[in-house]
Amino acid sequence: MSRKLDLRTGRPVWSAYRAPAVRTDRLTRDVKTDVLIVGMGISGAMMAEALTADGHAVICIDRRGPMQGSTSATTALVQFEIDQPLSTLSRMIGKVPAEQAWRRSRLAVSNLAAHIAELGINCRPSRTQSLYLAGNVLGPSELRDEADARREAGIAASYLTSARLAEKFGIDRDGAILSSGNIALDPRKLTAGLLLKALERKARFYTPVEATKIEDSANEVVVATGDGPTIIAQHVVLATGYELVDIVPAAAHRIISTWAIATRPQSPRVWWNAAFIWEASDPYLYMRATADGRVICGGEDEDFVDETRRDGRIADKSARIAEKLGLMFPHLDVRPEFAWTGSFGTTTTGLPYIGTIPRRPRIHAVMGYGGNGITFSRIASELVSASINGLDDTDAKLFAFNR
Ligand SMILES: Cc1cc2nc3c(=O)[nH]c(=O)nc-3n(C[C@H](O)[C@H](O)[C@H](O)COP(=O)(O)OP(=O)(O)OC[C@H]3O[C@@H](n4cnc5c(N)ncnc54)[C@H](O)[C@@H]3O)c2cc1C
Repeated sequence: MSRKLDLRTGRPVWSAYRAPAVRTDRLTRDVKTDVLIVGMGISGAMMAEALTADGHAVICIDRRGPMQGSTSATTALVQFEIDQPLSTLSRMIGKVPAEQAWRRSRLAVSNLAAHIAELGINCRPSRTQSLYLAGNVLGPSELRDEADARREAGIAASYLTSARLAEKFGIDRDGAILSSGNIALDPRKLTAGLLLKALERKARFYTPVEATKIEDSANEVVVATGDGPTIIAQHVVLATGYELVDIVPAAAHRIISTWAIATRPQSPRVWWNAAFIWEASDPYLYMRATADGRVICGGEDEDFVDETRRDGRIADKSARIAEKLGLMFPHLDVRPEFAWTGSFGTTTTGLPYIGTIPRRPRIHAVMGYGGNGITFSRIASELVSASINGLDDTDAKLFAFNR
């Protein structure tokens, strides 16, 4: 029923830090619930936490186990800046919806930061600035326009000239946008923390369980699983990441390959304020620091999904990423202590697809694609829980399948 991908290979940096264990059970008999969530990555975890907080009975299943998919491979720059700059997105979908999408993304990151603090989840979060460097996609004058566009939409942004950039960050580029309010965190600790909150509220977790067939009627959804038992739910949320279930429309997205490295811990002052850094370039590079001073750097994306080819390139892609990182920051020890690769989903607009599947009002899909996957998982948890609670979210249409 769902596409199967080898989602990641290599050793992601998060294996250096222990995440709390999440206990799951075997599914041995038919069960019933209010909401079934398929997928126990960051998207499924956010959904489970939100829906149990609203008082719904929730079951989560995963054909691998909690945090075994893309969530363990993410570099976890939790950013409000959508892959498509606001000025570009405005040309693609119109100024009003583009501003609305950017504002919602900003709001989602703030909501997530507040919620992590409220729940007391120890995922080492820190509010982080981000620096968007001029490159071959947006040069200095386009970046100035982009900063103006963001300010017009009520999103704070400052343009740094090349002199300011060199003075503050020691980076030799033609200009950059500096903004604040993003979050650096450990994605496995966050996912485990959210799942454990849902468990405290009596959610039931079953793994390894694969959803193999989904049949919906006016009153319920019946999900068949690989080992035989069926799960009956009022609503089903498909949080299956890049392994798309065949009933989810997939016209506007594609899967590509991406690579990342992490260095050994070094000086906590890796660069000014340890801001997220990413480039307005193609191919692009992005980087962040961990709480103990490792530098994570990724990019070098390639437009193919062949996993053997992808895995075979870990060595040369890591060397290339380390070399580029060293050129930007000669004072760093850029030798990779961790190197990994993963599949990565993108859409043309950079916006995710979230909401009910056309003509199937009890089946909700969360396709949080793009460099902002985690931010989109948060938006999805807000939109889908509102929909299941019978509320209208004013931004739902922006992300809907039939937008
Ligand atoms: C190298 C890399 C870097 C990234 N960097 C960033 C970043 O800096 N910032 C950011 O926001 N995002 C980033 N992303 C994207 C982010 O990691 C993803 O958006 C996010 O992890 C997706 O989470 P998910 O829960 O939707 O999917 P997953 O974590 O893949 O979870 C989906 C789960 O569904 C299960 N499943 C699938 N089909 C079935 C089925 N039929 N039955 C049962 N279970 C099923 C799978 O086993 C899997 O465990 C990056 C991704 C990669 C690979």
